[in-house]
Amino acid sequence: MALNLLYPEYEIARNADRCITCRVCERQCANDVHSYIDEIERMVCDDSKCVNCHRCVSLCPTRALKIVRSGNTYKENANWSARIINELYKQADTSGVLLSGMGNPLDYPVYFDKILLNASQVTNPSIDPLREPMETKVFLGAKPHNIERGEDGRIVSKLPPQLSLSMPVMFSAMSYGSLSYNAHESLARAAEAVGICYNTGEGGLHENFYPYGKNTIVQVASGRFGVHPHYLNSGAAIEIKMGQGAKPGIGGHLPGTKIVGDISRTRMIPEGSDAISPAPHHDIYSIEDLRQLVYSLKEATAYKKPVIVKIAAVHNVAAIASGIARSGADIIAIDGFRGGTGAAPTRMRDHVGIPIELALASVDTRLRDEGIRDRVSLIVGGSIRSSADIVKAVALGADCVYIGTAALLALGCHLCRTCYAGKCNWGIATQMHELVKRLNPDLGFQRLVNLMTAWRHEIKEMMGGMGINSIESLKGNRLMLRGVGLNETELGILGIKHAGG
Ligand code: SF4
Ligand code: SF4
Ligand code: SF4
Repeated sequence: MALNLLYPEYEIARNADRCITCRVCERQCANDVHSYIDEIERMVCDDSKCVNCHRCVSLCPTRALKIVRSGNTYKENANWSARIINELYKQADTSGVLLSGMGNPLDYPVYFDKILLNASQVTNPSIDPLREPMETKVFLGAKPHNIERGEDGRIVSKLPPQLSLSMPVMFSAMSYGSLSYNAHESLARAAEAVGICYNTGEGGLHENFYPYGKNTIVQVASGRFGVHPHYLNSGAAIEIKMGQGAKPGIGGHLPGTKIVGDISRTRMIPEGSDAISPAPHHDIYSIEDLRQLVYSLKEATAYKKPVIVKIAAVHNVAAIASGIARSGADIIAIDGFRGGTGAAPTRMRDHVGIPIELALASVDTRLRDEGIRDRVSLIVGGSIRSSADIVKAVALGADCVYIGTAALLALGCHLCRTCYAGKCNWGIATQMHELVKRLNPDLGFQRLVNLMTAWRHEIKEMMGGMGINSIESLKGNRLMLRGVGLNETELGILGIKHAGG
């Protein structure tokens, strides 16, 4: 029984002078917020259904619409915020676990915003990226500890399989099923054009996307959906998903209603059956078990593909990464607590895990201290928002970053955070045909390429400003970083000095 009817969080503000009753907003809103009443010849709306996705606002031809906060307040209370009260009321009404989409929105410190980059002045002059060559290419994978040469001076050391990328960025794991076909097509084509990789996530690889294999990371998660020898051999690398930043310690669930047609075929499960990925892999309870899976996958692919192990950033992440580096994995991907997702229990998303900046610095330090840093490459993700975040992540020790939310924003996402509802008005996180076709893959592809092109220019400019001409020289170069407003413990973990020092 609902005792507390919640006032809608957002209100539709329609300017009657501007509205020409074209009904575009009615057609564009999959949540049925707008409707036209013949008798009064006016548009009306049901604010309670609005998720603030801005689709109607963006397409209203006369700019007649605004979505505003309702402004309805509870009595002031610094402890019991309106968000906490509303969530509690919802649970008292429904007895359900709260669900959320995308990443953690709470006000925890963003360490990237408390780190500043260096620039050359007078000595060690800066480099003009327009005139001088700048190398943004990276190779991910284990590197030989020593270089051995033959009698003729040529290098004879064997290089384990490497993932070659034109810049230190990849599109992170987002499955077909959680994302639409057109979103996946945009990601695959952009990855190929830019010379980077996108990631299948745990949903398998649609038959139409096999031609993009050399720009695809194929994922193996606990549910093993869509995993078969051809799939493993088609990708440029294989990723074992042990954890995810948005929901560390729990598995995934795509409801049976979304397992239809192509998605059911790609995942190799019957139509209508729930796709449940258990929290643990049922064959992995130790680093030795993980090693077995790493080598099974290498064996299945004739030792030609680097194997990535992806984990969530959690409290003892450095020790965990040290174990993974010894498991035979070539690359470790660490996903911070701000990482996005289609659906996660709100409490897990908002209260579990640690910031990626601290996790990265502690893992890089630990692997260096143990003399095994060259055994693995490090990829980090979990709210990389700009080229500056990438440069800072590389200087903290990353070889490469994963972007998920940023890529979806480029595709048109407005961060309404209701992906789990399956009614994404922008055609990204939905399987409804009439919504999917709103995302034009030609346009999505071009916008992703534009974003990567812009970021590559900015990365070169920032590196040039520091007098550094390659990502390899920037990697782990923490002297290029200074902290602002950080305490001694934070500076110690990040391994950087305070600004002015
Ligand atoms: S799209 Fe704009 S102009 Fe058209 S009916 Fe809606 S508010 Fe009015
Ligand atoms: S849900 Fe989106 S499209 Fe619908 S009214 Fe709200 S902002 Fe507009
Ligand atoms: S992908 Fe779609 S549903 Fe998800 S946050 Fe973005 S706009 Fe909203």
